Amino acid sequence: MITAPAPARHGQVRLFIEILVNGHRSAGLYKLMPIPGCPGSWRIKTQTGQEHQVHRAPNGTLSCDCPDAVYRARPGGCKHCRAIKAAGL
Ligand SMILES: [Zn+2]
Repeated sequence: MITAPAPARHGQVRLFIEILVNGHRSAGLYKLMPIPGCPGSWRIKTQTGQEHQVHRAPNGTLSCDCPDAVYRARPGGCKHCRAIKAAGL
């Protein structure tokens, strides 16, 4: 029996994440966009247009350029890094 190949599918996927801090919604939905050429690294943008970058090092650790990550040393990282980890991204 000869069957026709499955038709090619095209489209886009948009990935959003909601961050809860102490059980409360942080700042609405964050849009996630992969950083080309940096596997596991993301641009994370709020609905108000604020944007941060979460980079994954070759050893798997995440770093973020947000003020919380740059100026405070939190166990587990800033909310952006913790959200990326929690989502398994
Ligand atoms: Zn951050």
